[in-house]
Amino acid sequence: MRRLEDLRRFPFTDKKVERDRQLAAPDLGDMVAVPERDIVFVSASSGSTGVPTLSPFTKKDFDDFQNVESRQFWSVGMRPTDRYLHALNFSLFVGGPDVIGAQNLGALCIWGGTLPSERLLYIMKQFKPTITWTTPSYAWHLGEEALKHGIDPRSDLAIRKIIVAGEPGGSIPETRKAIEALWRADLYDFYGLSDIFGSCAGMCPEKEGLHLAEDNILLEVLDPETQEPVADGKPGEMVLTTLLKEARPMIRFRTGDIVTRLPEPCACGRTFSRFVVQGRIDDMIIVSGVNVFPSDIETVVRGHAGLTGEYRITVYEEERLLKFDVEVETAAGREHEAGALAKYVESEIKVRVGVRPKLVRAHPAGTLPRSTHKAKRLVDLRKS
Ligand SMILES: [Zn+2]
Repeated sequence: MRRLEDLRRFPFTDKKVERDRQLAAPDLGDMVAVPERDIVFVSASSGSTGVPTLSPFTKKDFDDFQNVESRQFWSVGMRPTDRYLHALNFSLFVGGPDVIGAQNLGALCIWGGTLPSERLLYIMKQFKPTITWTTPSYAWHLGEEALKHGIDPRSDLAIRKIIVAGEPGGSIPETRKAIEALWRADLYDFYGLSDIFGSCAGMCPEKEGLHLAEDNILLEVLDPETQEPVADGKPGEMVLTTLLKEARPMIRFRTGDIVTRLPEPCACGRTFSRFVVQGRIDDMIIVSGVNVFPSDIETVVRGHAGLTGEYRITVYEEERLLKFDVEVETAAGREHEAGALAKYVESEIKVRVGVRPKLVRAHPAGTLPRSTHKAKRLVDLRKS
């Protein structure tokens, strides 16, 4: 490796390579580059196949990780005068320790974890935290739960900033604005993966894409088919290389996420690359040659006050062609408009995405299953 371009001659790694190397050389795998006595922390990610992969950190890796977290918290306006409620899972999950970054910044930290909603709302009411971090689905769910319990998140709670990660919602303006209105708070999207850091990139106050911690991580955006770099402004697979990690350096790690790198410098003055996350390659469906992401559908469904914002996409094959149905819910009191709202969703999807769903059904509010943490809104009948 002599020049930056030489990186392209290195092979890729991905989740499968990680898992295979771990199974081939128990327990930590042969991609670990330091003796075990230098490893101070491992997180584990379950993944769909059930074999958890471990992500090891040396003391220095862990400190670098928390410095990045501190900086990202600072970027969204966290200061030592803030009270921070960390509402991410602490069990094995790499997002758990992110709270240390907030603590190092000087904020008063409450290690909430995944408490039941009533308990979390009680803590929010009692101890008046000003910032919290959860998933977008859960932020939405918790706001609605609060209202059901007679608590108005806008006036009865002190939360003024919500950090979200784990799903694309935080980068979908319609979803972000709906959650912001529910809480009267600013919503910021962060992006992380267990293989590198709890959070590797985060929004700044401009809320236009996420700045990557480029002093720690190198970004390539590649065509998933040809593996050639795509131009800035065009979507491609995010491939990451760690620059400082000691315990398990990652070279050209294929994240499986489709992102677009924004070509313009950010108005905030930060010079690190910004990208927008479109969604997982695995969740992308190709209908009549058009790439469709659940996030495209979400943009439509969350952009109309007559709908609750909940949705479910069902994908299936009909006469060898891929089709998809969309189910939505009418907002309370708008049931009589179900037909018109379904038509609206259908034509908006056609306008925005370029293809029409086979069927759109509008159910009464509360029909579709609510998920609390990571929402599963795509049902693929081809896999069942
Ligand atoms: Zn910025």
